This record gives sequence, C-alpha cells and structure tokens, in this order.
Amino acid sequence: MTLFPLFANLKHRAVLVIGGGEIAERKVRLMLACGARVTVVAPHVVDTLQELARLERITLIAASYQTSHLNGAWLIIAATDQRTVNQRIAQDAQDARILVNVVDDPELSSFQVPAIVDRSPLIIAISSTGSAPMLARRVREQLETMIDHSVGALARLAHDYRSAIRRARPELGPRRRFYDWLMDGPVGAALRSQQGEQARQALEQGLHTPESAQDKQGRVILVGAGPGDPGLLTLNALRALNRADVILYDRLVSDQVMELARRDATRIFVGKQLGEDHHQTQARIHGLMVEHARAGHTVVRLKGGDGFIFGRGGEELEYLAEQKVAFEVVPGITAAVACAAYSGIPLTHRDHAQSVQLVTAHRQSGHSIQDWNPLLDPTQTVAVYMGLQQILLFCDDLLLRGRDADTPCALVENGSRPEQRTLLSTLQRIARDARQHDFKSPAILIIGQVAALGASLSWYGELIDQFSPYEHQVHKDQILELA
Ligand code: SAH
Repeated sequence: MTLFPLFANLKHRAVLVIGGGEIAERKVRLMLACGARVTVVAPHVVDTLQELARLERITLIAASYQTSHLNGAWLIIAATDQRTVNQRIAQDAQDARILVNVVDDPELSSFQVPAIVDRSPLIIAISSTGSAPMLARRVREQLETMIDHSVGALARLAHDYRSAIRRARPELGPRRRFYDWLMDGPVGAALRSQQGEQARQALEQGLHTPESAQDKQGRVILVGAGPGDPGLLTLNALRALNRADVILYDRLVSDQVMELARRDATRIFVGKQLGEDHHQTQARIHGLMVEHARAGHTVVRLKGGDGFIFGRGGEELEYLAEQKVAFEVVPGITAAVACAAYSGIPLTHRDHAQSVQLVTAHRQSGHSIQDWNPLLDPTQTVAVYMGLQQILLFCDDLLLRGRDADTPCALVENGSRPEQRTLLSTLQRIARDARQHDFKSPAILIIGQVAALGASLSWYGELIDQFSPYEHQVHKDQILELA
C-alpha cells in the first residue's frame, strides 16, 4: 500500500483552491459540503463560483497565484490548467508542509481525492493510487448499486445507541452478532421501508431481549423480475437478489435474471406443475414462503414483470399478513410497459390514445370481462396479457362486440429478450398473421392507434410489419371509393 487512506475533518478549517474552472468548482462544492472554509484564487472564475462568492459561501481572490496565498491553509487543491503553475504550487506546499492535491496529477500531489460512495455518516472512499481512476470510478458504480441508501440511517441509529448496545452486549461476540441482527433483521427492514420510529422500537426491544430470544424471523421480499432483460431490473430488485437465502421463482423469470442472484441462495422453481390446479400451486407457494421465512431466511418471491399485475402478488401478501410474516415489495417493469417500449409503441399519445387498459381474462375460469365498453373505445389502448391462443380468441370477442376491424395491433413475443419479435397487423388479421409466422407464448397484444407507430419507431428485435402494406391497401381502396 503506497497511500495511507484517511478521512479529514475540515470543519471550519481553511482550504485553498487555486483555479476557477468547472473542475475547481466541483472540488469547492465537496469541501463546502464538509464544512470547510474555502478560499478560491484565480484571475477569472466561472459564474457558479462567482455566485458562491456573492452568497459569501467562499472567499474569492481575483488574482494570479502567489506563494503567500498558502498561509494558514490546511489543505490545498491546485486545479489550474497550467502545469508550471501547478508545479510551483506543489513545490510551495511541499516547503510549507501542507498537503496538496494537483487535479489529475498524482506525481505532483501529496494527497489524492478518492472516488466516493456517500451514505453519510457511512462513507466509502476508493482509490487506485492514481494508476487507473476509471477503474476506481467503476468500482464506485458497482458499490452504488449494491448498497442501498438506508445504510446511512442505520449508521446514524447505531451511533445514537452505541453506548446502550455496549451496555446490553458487553462481550465482543454477542455485540458483533447484535450488529448483524441490526442490519439483517427487523431494524434494517424498517429503515428500508422509511419507518424510522418502528426501527427505533425494534432496536430498543432487541436491546432488552436476551440474544437467545431475539426475533430471528426471516422475511419475504416480493420482487418483480421484469419481462426478461436483466437490465430492466430495479436496483432494489438486484439488492434483494443479492441478499436472498431462498428464491422462489416462476416460469416467466428469465435465466439471465437468475444469474444475477446470490450464488449460494437456494433456488426453488414454483411454477405450476403437471397435474396441479391453480389452488394447489398457490397453496404450495404459500407453504414454502412461510416455512422458509420462519426458519429465519430472507425469502425472495420472484415473479415475472410486476408482482401486482396479474401476478397473484396480492393473494400472497394477504396470506403472509395473516400468518404474521414480515414482507417488503419491489415493483418490476410489467410486460405491457416493457413490450411497448421495446417495440417503439407509446402506450399513450396525445394524438392517438388518452388512456391504457391492462386486461387479462380466462373464459374457462369464469374471470370474464364484465364491461366491454371501455375496451371498444377507439381512443384507448388495450394491452392483453394471456396465453397466445386466448389472446387470439379475445380479438374475435372484440370484433364481435364492435371494435373496428382495422384497429392497428402489435403482438410482441418474448418482449425485451434477445429473441423478441413484433408483429404489426390489424385486429381482424392478427390471428391469421400470428399463425402464419408461428408466434408463441409469452406474448402480449397491444391494441389501438398507437400500435401503428411501431412501424416507424420499432428499434429492438425483429419487426414483421403486416400493417403498413395493408394500410396502403386501405388507402387505395378509399381513394377508389372516393373516385
Ligand atoms: N406479472 C406479469 C404478468 C403475468 S401474466 C407482468 O407484470 O408482466 C403472464 C402474461 O404476461 C403472459 O401470458 C404474457 O401475455 C405476458 N408476458 C409476460 N412476460 C412477457 C414477455 N417477456 N413478452 C411478452 N409477454 C409477456
């Protein structure tokens, strides 16, 4: 290790920044955030620094650098674009034994400014010792994704209760385990859910409970895995997958998403099994969630798309609430939103669609649609979630009830996955075209004027456009009729 990492307390301490450009400004803001008294020396400065001076947040010396400017400074940052000036500053600082950072010049610097992940009061500083700042930035990015913001609140709480924790757990071993419990148990969970008061209560209760009797119950995190492209996971979904002890996943969860999960998590496929009806499947899933949570595990219940959109997430949470098992919910990008985006179809559009309806229906199971009228409105987009065969039957229903046969439609198969295909057609012809091109589930149907925009806005996967040639035909027919 060639550099010694340290965290400097600059509160009310004088810091000198030489240079008046944007880079200088960025350093100034960082120093101000730490409470430093900042003086900027430069003949010219950017407007934003000018403004800080006007607000008396910094002292501005509009002059070229002179050695005397160093007097009284604890720390110096040289951010001029002239190497000879920077060299002089570095030398002067060396003589005066003041630490200096010359921006982007590790050779001239006696200290370096790390890449930072700020979860105050928890701060992570990363350095590549000046050898590869890009790499340090990359690591910073990774840490930013991994560590959620509630860690800051946890650190504050730990600070407030530090001596109480020491009293309640005087020995090191139990105290360490108490801190583990703080992060992994109900206190950390309450903070992630922005419930500060509950977190405090749980902590105090934990302090007054002997270790053996402490609440070690696990919890269930209902996570939306999105439509398939792992890039569409939320940061919270990724964090949950990294924390999981057990993952209960559905058929629609893609392999690429599963690859991002913690390696040693137990993965259990809970999709419908042969010979099982829907009640049996749900009962099995309910049983597994509760069993693993009660064993103290963090259970991720992972569902395709969003758990609350045709995903039975509601039923599962009701069951957990009934069983008094704690839970959190992470939303996912639902298939309609993803398929529309990946096919260049805006679900609403000022000129074409004022609302969007997400529908599913199973003729057999009695979950049929009560009121068809909103689905027939030409200014409304309808996204249909179902198995492909049912989608095509649904089109017949819409036609029968009077939605215009020429309404544009887009059938999106395997939306957001590498094998995505989009078929553009009309309500009347889509079933035939889908059969001709051998479309399969999972697929979603987007019905409405906006679907036609896919012809020009499509940007991902394969586009099979049966609509545009047909539309030309319609126009020609209309022209012939007019003639
Ligand atoms: N909870 C899920 C939907 C479950 S219902 C969500 O929010 O997306 C299952 C239906 O969703 C499938 O029959 C299909 O119509 C649709 N679907 C899910 N993933 C899809 C994908 N990647 N591409 C196209 N349709 C998809």
